[in-house]
Amino acid sequence: MKRIAIIGGGISGLSAAFALEQKRRAGVPLEYKVFEKNARLGGVLVTERIDGCLIEAGPDSFISEKPWASDLCRQLGLADQLIGSNDADRKTYILTRGKLVVMPDGLMFMVPTKILPTVFSPLFSVKTKIRMASEWFHPPHKAEKDETVAALVERHYGSEMVDRLADPLLSGVYGGEADELSVRAVLPRFAEMELKYGSLGRAMLASRKKIAQAAKSPPQPLFTSLKNGMQQMVAALLSQLPASTLSTEVDVQQVQMLENGWTVSAGYQSDHFDAVIVALPTQAAAAILQAANPSLAAECSTVAYSSSITVTLGYDKMVRDTLPPGFGFLVPRSERKRMLACTFVHNKFPHRAPEDRAIVRCFLGGSRDEQALLLSEGEILEIVRRELREIIGLDAEPLFARVYKWKSAMAQYGVGHLERLDRIETLRNQMLGLFLAGNGYRGIGVPDCVRSGTEAATRSLEFVGLADATTAAPVSQTA
Ligand SMILES: Cc1cc2nc3c(=O)[nH]c(=O)nc-3n(C[C@H](O)[C@H](O)[C@H](O)COP(=O)(O)OP(=O)(O)OC[C@H]3O[C@@H](n4cnc5c(N)ncnc54)[C@H](O)[C@@H]3O)c2cc1C
Repeated sequence: MKRIAIIGGGISGLSAAFALEQKRRAGVPLEYKVFEKNARLGGVLVTERIDGCLIEAGPDSFISEKPWASDLCRQLGLADQLIGSNDADRKTYILTRGKLVVMPDGLMFMVPTKILPTVFSPLFSVKTKIRMASEWFHPPHKAEKDETVAALVERHYGSEMVDRLADPLLSGVYGGEADELSVRAVLPRFAEMELKYGSLGRAMLASRKKIAQAAKSPPQPLFTSLKNGMQQMVAALLSQLPASTLSTEVDVQQVQMLENGWTVSAGYQSDHFDAVIVALPTQAAAAILQAANPSLAAECSTVAYSSSITVTLGYDKMVRDTLPPGFGFLVPRSERKRMLACTFVHNKFPHRAPEDRAIVRCFLGGSRDEQALLLSEGEILEIVRRELREIIGLDAEPLFARVYKWKSAMAQYGVGHLERLDRIETLRNQMLGLFLAGNGYRGIGVPDCVRSGTEAATRSLEFVGLADATTAAPVSQTA
C-alpha cells in the first residue's frame, strides 16, 4: 500500500485528493491523507447566506476560458449547477476624475479593438487616443528579458492606459500593480502578440477572428460560478472524500525526506508517507520545507503575496433600483481612494440575491495598501460607506454588512517569476517524492489551482509507481 500526504485543504489540495480518491476507488492500492490546519476545509472558498442573499467571502467565480474548474465540477456531478455571468448586462465602469465612465465596447483586456467606441470614450485623453491609433503600426518587438506589465502597456499606449486600465484590472485579479507584475508570467499572450504582430490591437483582432471562425457553439460566458456559490464545489469534493482521509486542525510544521519516503510532522505527531504534495501558498510551503531543503524554501519564500479585504453590503429594492446597471466599477490609483473595485453582485450572476435585494461587494487592500489589514471592521466599513457615497451617491443604511480579511492570499508574480519557477523545479527535482501545488506558481485563479492539484496528484502517482495501475472510474459509477 502506497501512502501520499497532501498538505493544505484549499481547492488545490482538495483537487489533488479527489484525483487520488478516483484511483483508490478504482482499486489502486493507495492511501492518502489531507492535512489542514483549520477546522474548515476549502481555504479561501467560503460562501455564506444572509437575508436570502448569497455572499462570497473569497472568489465569486472563475474565468470560463480556463476549463479545469468547470471540468472538475462536471466530474463531481455539478454540471447542472454551473451558471454563467449575465454577460448581456456586462458593463464595467472606471472611476475617472470622480465620475464613473463606462469601459468602451471592444476593449479586450485593455486592448482597444473597436475604433469608434474608443474615439468617443471620455475615459482617455486625446493624446492617448492618438497613441492608440498609432499603435496599429507598432513594429514586432522581442523584449530581451522579462519586464513589468506597465512597461509593455506604456510602450504601446502610454502611461494613461497603465493608470486607467492596466493597474485597476490587475489589482482586481491579482491584488497587484502593473509596475511590479511580470508580463511573461501574468500576460504571456501579450508578449507573444507583440513578438508576432507588433500591434496588440491587430493581434487581438486576428485572434478574435480565429476564435469566431473556429467556434461552432455560441460564445461561453466570461465567468462561471455555481448556483449555490463557490463553496458548493468544496462541499461536492468533500462528499467524495472519505472522512478518514481528512485531518483538520493539524498545523503541519515540517516535512522531512528520509531514505524510504517522507515524514510529515505536526506538533508531537508524525506520520510516514511515500510521497508528499505541498498544496500551500508558497510562504507557508517555505516554512514547512525549511528543514528538508533550505534553498528550495528560500526560493519559495521570495514569491510575494498581497492581502485582500472583501466587504459585502446588502441593500433593499430601493437601492437596487437606483444603482447603475452593469457589473460594477474599478478604481485607478490616481483617484486616491482605498477601494480598488466594487461589484454589483445581483447584476453579475443570477441566483445571488432575491429581486428585492441588492448586493454590493467592495475590495480593499492589495499590494498598494497592506495597511488596510490593520484596520478594524468598523473602520473598514466607514471607509467603504464613505467612498460609496462619494462615488455613486449611495448613502442608504445597509441591511447587513460583512468584512472578510485575507492575509497574504494573492500571489504576486513579479518580474523574473518564470526563472524563479525554473529554479524551484530544479530544487524540487532533487527531493524525490515531493510535489508542489497552489497559487504561487503558474496561475492564481481557481482553475489554475485545480489544475495544479490534479497534476501534482498524477505526478505523485507516477512517482510511487501507481499511475497505470488501473484506469480511474468516473465518480458517478463509484460514488
Ligand atoms: C478575496 C479573494 C478573491 C478571489 N477571487 C477569485 C476569483 O473571483 N476567481 C478566481 O479564479 N480566483 C480568485 N481568487 C484566487 C483563488 O481563490 C485562490 O488563489 C485559490 O483559491 C487558492 O487555493 P489554494 O488551495 O491554493 O490555497 P488556499 O485556499 O489558501 O488553501 C491553502 C490551505 O492550506 C492551509 N494551510 C496553510 N498552512 C498550513 C499548514 N502548515 N498545515 C496545514 N494546512 C495549512 C490553509 O489553512 C488553507 O486552508 C481570489 C482570492 C481571494 C483571496
